[in-house]
Amino acid sequence: MADGKWGNCKGCKYFGSQNPQPSGDEKSRCRQPELSKYELQVSGDSGCNAWETRTGVSGTVSPYQEPAPSVH
Ligand code: SF4
Repeated sequence: MADGKWGNCKGCKYFGSQNPQPSGDEKSRCRQPELSKYELQVSGDSGCNAWETRTGVSGTVSPYQEPAPSVH
């Protein structure tokens, strides 16, 4: 299924939004062929390793990156 690339749903071609450039807090269905059977409702800031580049998204969207660890 996955090619190992992590990315946010808002930049993924399987994010069900009709918006050409979805926002991080927008929620929509995941239409990835192997995940769609679960009828997942995901937000633009969610993500997974089945991510594939969404066409029409400007160059400002970058693949998901792990946040830096916090210091307590
Ligand atoms: S859950 Fe994964 S495959 Fe589905 S829209 Fe988000 S990044 Fe894409």
